[in-house]
Amino acid sequence: MTEDQIKEWRCRLMNILSSDNKTYKVFADQALDLTLQNVGEKVFFRGLIEMSNRCVKDCYYCGIRRSNSDTHRYELSEQEVLSAVQVAFDQHYASVVIQAGERSNPSFIKKISSILSEVKRRYEGKIGITLSLGEQSRETLEEWFALGARRYLLRIESSNKDLYYKWHPNDNLHTFDRRLETLKILREVGYQVGTGVLIGAPFQTLEDLVNDLIFFKKMDVDMIGMGPFISHPNTPLFDKNETSQTLQDRFQLSLRMISALRCLMPNINIAAATSLQAIDPMGREKAVKAGANIIMPNVTPQSSRADYQLYPNKPCIDEEAWECKGCLEARLSMVDRKIGYDEWGDAPHFFERL
Ligand code: SAM
Ligand code: SF4
Repeated sequence: MTEDQIKEWRCRLMNILSSDNKTYKVFADQALDLTLQNVGEKVFFRGLIEMSNRCVKDCYYCGIRRSNSDTHRYELSEQEVLSAVQVAFDQHYASVVIQAGERSNPSFIKKISSILSEVKRRYEGKIGITLSLGEQSRETLEEWFALGARRYLLRIESSNKDLYYKWHPNDNLHTFDRRLETLKILREVGYQVGTGVLIGAPFQTLEDLVNDLIFFKKMDVDMIGMGPFISHPNTPLFDKNETSQTLQDRFQLSLRMISALRCLMPNINIAAATSLQAIDPMGREKAVKAGANIIMPNVTPQSSRADYQLYPNKPCIDEEAWECKGCLEARLSMVDRKIGYDEWGDAPHFFERL
């Protein structure tokens, strides 16, 4: 984009983010049209496997941060992860996301490698694997790619470095530059790259969010997962709501972010974040109407779901996978959308940039 184009886009994006409900409806309809034209009418599911809540990091917003001693820590065994993959496969979700707190010790890296090898052996490419395991070395990311992982989600959280350090400790473990560098490495290794930000978190302005959208465009990413910040009582950012935004405000702002992004990057995959559903029971469907095309139903064994508590009021803790599927089918038919069963559902953007 030229500087003039960026200037023009900043203005358009700010208009969307700051629109009142009536004006926003027009933008949302435009975003929906762009979705249907560029990524199609299907919504794709990714079975979410919350593999472990053990984490070496201490992000100020996250309920499973290292310093939260109130969290019961767990880690699924390799067999449990493989069973969860099978649950997703049986539900005809042709993709899974393996997510966990950040760790990069050799046994953790080896365990992921072993899971990837086994999935490759069992499903022979019929199931796509996305990893969301935080910052890792180039060597590790290459190893996992070679073993079959094809997508990686690493939210930058905020593209504003100063803001990043208001949400993270300023130490060797939490460096903005390394997070940015990891996104670049992911791209070089060959992954479909996903990133995203927190929306409505303390100290953040609309300007910051507009800059985040421009950042996504400049990074030319393939997928975005972004959702409202929900404050957790055992974290330093609890009660730091100096902008006095209610959860509803953050929810509305998140829908506007999705529509704005769809206008800016029409052919990428945009996920309807689970945190939307924690605020509004129809949150994910509203996100789909705003321009999202990916939903991540939880396929983690029920016994561990409540322990992966990034924020309070986490939805779908008790539902079985088949219940989630039935519920989502009914809800998506209400918004006139089909489901892309047995398809990986890659973003057209990925193939176009290749
Ligand atoms: N540990 C990996 C990482 O940080 O990239 C992956 C797992 S982490 C739990 C996934 C995402 O959860 C983070 O990128 C963050 O944006 C989101 N998250 C954490 N705490 C949150 C909160 N209080 N409200 C909303 N989202 C939150
Ligand atoms: Fe750990 Fe990710 Fe939570 Fe940060 S956001 S504390 S890295 S799980």
